[in-house]
Amino acid sequence: MSDIVNPGAARPTHPLALAPVVSPPSSVDGFVKQFLTNLNFDQGVSLSESDANDQYLALAGTVRDYLMARWLEDQARQNEQQSKTVCYLSAEYLLGRQLDNNLLAARLTDIATDALAQCGIDINDLRELEVEPGLGNGGLGRLAACFIDSLATMSVPNIGYGIRYEYGIFRQTFVDGEQVEQPDAWLRMGSPWDFPHPEAAQTISFGGRTETYDDNGTERTRWIPDWSVLAVPYNMMVPGYHNGRVNTLRLWRAVATNAFDLRIFNSGDYEESVRAQTFAENISKVLYPEDSTPQGKELRLQQQYFFVSASIRDFIDTVLPADYDLTKLPDRVIFQLNDTHPVIGVPELMRVLIDEKGMEWDDAWAITQQCFAYTCHTLLPEALEVWPVDLLGRLLPRHLEIIYRINEEFLEEVRERFGDDMLRIRNMSIIGEHPYRSVRMAYLATVAGAKVNGVAELHSQLLRDKVLHDFAEMYPDKFTNVTNGITPRRFIRLANPSLAELITEALGAGWTIDLERLRGLEALAEDPEFRERFGAVKAANKRRLNEVLFQRDGVHVDETHMLDVMVKRLHEYKRQMLKVLHIVTLYDGIASGRVAAADVTPRTFIFGAKAAPGYAMAKRIIHLINAVGSVVNNDPRVEGRLKVIFPPNYNVTLAEKVIPAADLSEQISLAGKEASGTGNMKFALNGALTIGTDDGANVEIRQLVGDDNFFLFGMTEPEVEVLWAQGYTPADFYQAHAGLRGALDLISSGAFSEGDRSVFEPVVSNLLYDDRFMVLADYASYIAAQERVDAAYADQDAWTKSAILNVARSGFFSSDRSMRDYIDRIWHTPPVL
Ligand SMILES: *Cc1c(COP(=O)(O)O)cnc(C)c1O
Repeated sequence: MSDIVNPGAARPTHPLALAPVVSPPSSVDGFVKQFLTNLNFDQGVSLSESDANDQYLALAGTVRDYLMARWLEDQARQNEQQSKTVCYLSAEYLLGRQLDNNLLAARLTDIATDALAQCGIDINDLRELEVEPGLGNGGLGRLAACFIDSLATMSVPNIGYGIRYEYGIFRQTFVDGEQVEQPDAWLRMGSPWDFPHPEAAQTISFGGRTETYDDNGTERTRWIPDWSVLAVPYNMMVPGYHNGRVNTLRLWRAVATNAFDLRIFNSGDYEESVRAQTFAENISKVLYPEDSTPQGKELRLQQQYFFVSASIRDFIDTVLPADYDLTKLPDRVIFQLNDTHPVIGVPELMRVLIDEKGMEWDDAWAITQQCFAYTCHTLLPEALEVWPVDLLGRLLPRHLEIIYRINEEFLEEVRERFGDDMLRIRNMSIIGEHPYRSVRMAYLATVAGAKVNGVAELHSQLLRDKVLHDFAEMYPDKFTNVTNGITPRRFIRLANPSLAELITEALGAGWTIDLERLRGLEALAEDPEFRERFGAVKAANKRRLNEVLFQRDGVHVDETHMLDVMVKRLHEYKRQMLKVLHIVTLYDGIASGRVAAADVTPRTFIFGAKAAPGYAMAKRIIHLINAVGSVVNNDPRVEGRLKVIFPPNYNVTLAEKVIPAADLSEQISLAGKEASGTGNMKFALNGALTIGTDDGANVEIRQLVGDDNFFLFGMTEPEVEVLWAQGYTPADFYQAHAGLRGALDLISSGAFSEGDRSVFEPVVSNLLYDDRFMVLADYASYIAAQERVDAAYADQDAWTKSAILNVARSGFFSSDRSMRDYIDRIWHTPPVL
């Protein structure tokens, strides 16, 4: 291996550079030495003068140093072996904290703990200083993070490409129970986990016009853009678990070019040029805090094109050798589109191949169709991204031309296949006409992609049957399913060390990378001693959660209570309101004297949920949850029976503490609306039982864990369709159930708003008159299922047995399995060992 210190295009050499990069010795002494070196030379302080943040940064730097040799080697080896690389294009990565994950991967946890102790430092104090990079909204971004962890662990060449937002997902606070968003300045205290590479920057252009010109007798097109910005890559290590492998996450930051203000800001004055700089750098300034609804904002399209163009050109220009024959591009790369956010990459690759590399249209199209695959993440029609033709044409005129031609040829194909069926052609066109002319990004991705996948069996079926029905008819072989997964490293090993230890003791250590081995726990579910130990782990996790939440928010979790947990983004389709109605029903029962407090199973309800700042109904529901909590928690009549806790700012760090303590997992979306869910998998693998609808991956969870170990309720997706088609009249359900009437009337009465009936009136009237997600239709079934939960929980030993079976039978939900499915069905990328 040569010259691995500088794998870039220009390769200066020095005899010393030929020596392999040496990791510090894997010993406590070696770690101490490296840590102190970093403290002195990187942070510029002595140990005695250092504060905790210095120590944290030096510790992170030390872990990095251990991983560095393998990182450089792996990049060089992949280039040498010309392996096929998965380029995962995702606008979001919800990574969670890095320190513990990287220590675990590199087998350094014990060494680092001891080394710091020798320096008089408790590593736990430093852990708490890390601000997680919240570069994602929720499930979609967390999925990307799990996938790159699995690919590294499976030694599959992968580059995760995305955006290095200066401000990630907002920090949620509550003021009088209402959500108030604070900026997430995650970079303020330094960012020890990434490396800027300004020398590898790409210039990304926007605006302007196109023109044709004669190139030795062939007419070609060129784009004459108006303005451009620099995309500077920041590389993060993605270490595999115990395999010495380190892949790369490459996040782009927008920086003004020197020539930035030439065209649009040509006044030449200083203030104007500073303004220009700010304008450019806005592109990677902030993550759009939207979930399940697209934001049709120009800046967002700029972000999408910015990172996708930088990524594609980075791969072609700097990862591939300079003389690479681009007709063979599909041998070296698959660009996986994580939802429609990166779909502008399709016309971008076409433009690069045709306008910049001189390829013919048909050749470029054949290559492009093999280089992309598309993952759809939604079933909500309003979440399907479209871009107004006006806007797209103004920002990316050449791309719009290319999209038009793709569409023309595609519609010709439709005509050949189905005849002049105008309705069909209008329905399938990549260009929509109503309410305004727009590019349907999901359709573009479907036409261009080699494969299109949904994220759970039910979801993929509904994509074929409904959302993309015409396309599935035309290209049946394109459509496939890959059920989502979660990484057992972060969500079991790190989040639940007590359970991990118990499993390792029972089954040996191999389960962490072969999660189907959890099956071995099935037999142990019959063993009373194992059940007792399993129960003790859950109790210990509740105590740990109590400590965390007391420290964080000053609230207590009673470990004798059933912990009933609903944590996920706040969205009407997820139906947090159904959970609220359950709580209010229980409260109303006791407070009105109809139910004896002693007959109610003591429960603590835990919520975690951020609402998009512009989503008024979601924010009102957050307000209501807090309002119900403050009444319930202060009413002596329900004391010791019901408690509601809503810690603000649900994120990965909090998830890692809450989920292992949960008894009951709430997965209660309206059937046919949740594409998969991944929270549901985290709970099952941590020994919580699910109460859930037949939706998303709940279906597969229930099939695997068995009906006896899952509380199913609610309408099925076909039943939902029937009821909706008949005409859903919520008033019928309101009239039919006294408990429901009581709960809604209590909210309406102002009981949770100091008598002010107006505060939550919009929430109640939405449920009664305008609810697409049919909360009231599933109320009775939900309450009945909760009664079954109470009955089951009364037999703690049987409950624990069910919990063990949930863990034992959920190995399928490892993201390693998801990656194997993507590799077999879509990518065909062997590991590089
Ligand atoms: C797993 C996860 C999600 C996704 O939860 P769902 O219940 O699948 O919506 C969202 N946010 C965080 C922080 C997560 O860890």
